[in-house]
Amino acid sequence: MKEEENFMDLEKLASALIPDEDLLDPDKYEEIYPPREMPKGAQVTRLAPSPTGFIHLGNLYSALADERAAHTSGGIFYLRIEDTDDKRKVDGAVESVIRSLDYFGIKFDEGAEIQSRLNIYGPYYQRQRAKIYRAFAKRLIAQGYAYPCFCTAEELDRVREAQNAEKLTTGYYGKFAKCRNLSEEEIYSNLKAGKPFVIRLKSQGDISNKITFRDAIKGEIAVTENDQDVVLLKSDGIPTYHFAHAIDDHFMRTTLVIRGEEWLSSLPIHLELHKVLGFKPPVYAHTCSLMKAENGGKRKLSKRKDPELSLDYYRKAGYYPAAVVKYLMTLLNSDFEEWQLKNPGADYREFKFKVEKMGKSGALFDLDKLNDISKTEISTLSAEECYAFLNSWVDEFGSASDKQHFADGAYIIKVLNLVMGTAGKKRRKDIERAEQGIRLLDYFFDDTFKPRYDFRFGDETVNTVLEEFAKVYDPDDDNQTWFAKVKEIAPKVGFAAETGEYKKNPEAYKGSVSDVAEILRIAVTGSANSPDLCTIMGILGKERTIKRLAAAIR
Ligand code: GLU
Repeated sequence: MKEEENFMDLEKLASALIPDEDLLDPDKYEEIYPPREMPKGAQVTRLAPSPTGFIHLGNLYSALADERAAHTSGGIFYLRIEDTDDKRKVDGAVESVIRSLDYFGIKFDEGAEIQSRLNIYGPYYQRQRAKIYRAFAKRLIAQGYAYPCFCTAEELDRVREAQNAEKLTTGYYGKFAKCRNLSEEEIYSNLKAGKPFVIRLKSQGDISNKITFRDAIKGEIAVTENDQDVVLLKSDGIPTYHFAHAIDDHFMRTTLVIRGEEWLSSLPIHLELHKVLGFKPPVYAHTCSLMKAENGGKRKLSKRKDPELSLDYYRKAGYYPAAVVKYLMTLLNSDFEEWQLKNPGADYREFKFKVEKMGKSGALFDLDKLNDISKTEISTLSAEECYAFLNSWVDEFGSASDKQHFADGAYIIKVLNLVMGTAGKKRRKDIERAEQGIRLLDYFFDDTFKPRYDFRFGDETVNTVLEEFAKVYDPDDDNQTWFAKVKEIAPKVGFAAETGEYKKNPEAYKGSVSDVAEILRIAVTGSANSPDLCTIMGILGKERTIKRLAAAIR
């Protein structure tokens, strides 16, 4: 501490700067927010977003790690809203965070807008905790760990320019921290003149000192001590993120802070804040960024360039939420995939998630792999479950015609049984996500049936096949009889009735029975690719089948 401070009445200064009369003795908060009673090793984790309304894949990735770390250890996962920056606030953002995570099956035990008997560590909005921060800021001033700074924005700009010109670290520190050494007289005359001020940390650190620190993901890392006199309270009395989060993590009894590696550079500040506040810091785990492969290299997923960074993207595209979560689990712990193979069908929550096993550097986000997992997940659903999933998407995002189609659940379930294949047997994996899967069902409805009629044979052949089949089609035929009728048509158009026969002697025929079936298939479904045609005709019924055969006649 500087010598002249010994003569400064710091208690008096603290009261002059923070005159609030309703502040508690900071020590009281240790009683108000007592350590949590939890089993040994239980982790308390939190998601601490600003209420901007934008919640992205990186947040989900972190939230899943938080949720797993808490719940695999018998701990608590809570939601805290870091709303100190009013300018970024968006109405409804908190509900949107909760709803977005809930969609992926991630639930908070406690926190903002969460109904829970555990909510004794609140309020969970930082703006509602102003008194706590002010009580601690006042104490830090009284202890000589914080001081008022009257520098204007213009003055700070000038300092930054000078630092840039000399290629020095920017910021308020050392000889640049002008207000650090103001005399008592100067301070009081500034106050008297009504000059606005912020409260800054009087850093005790020295950048020539290294501190080794153990990150739960990155392991041992050496960081340089902080020497920046960071702002604790802004001129409107609102705390900065640094100050508020240190106090909150302590009093909400957070044991493990999982957050993006962009915060690693602020860690020295946070460690110093915990030290001057007299708190034991939580364990920190800095997660790697989500990357995307591009032009042979990789780059961070970007809000501007990559729509898949936004969580809304997955809801709108109708990804099966459990598939997204499973995919993220493969990114979180690389041995998850192997575990899943060994335990097919097991809930991901049974996997022993470990923070220490999280990737140390850039996790590559691969949409193709997610699509693959999504297809496989959906293929394990029963037709009824799949209907429920698709229907909830239709409710939110479907067109009026989708809504009308899905009103007839029994019909859709019949269609899904066919499209997905029989449960228990080898299933088809055609449905990747709701938006795409629902389009696969379009040909089962007259208003969305838009055939292209890409026949590979001449009109005469096509017409004969369609007319002949229409004459004999009977919806009561079993699969074999149905196929026998298709075969009978083959010789009438110069096709081989048996595929084997055609293969032996291709010159003798224009095509084979499978080409007859293809013509029928294109007429009835609009595509050469579809599940079992006899069943499709059965689902459509005689009248619609005959109508479609007739409509395709050239
Ligand atoms: N409010 C910070 C953010 O928006 C939270 C960082 C942290 O988890 O400490 O990213």
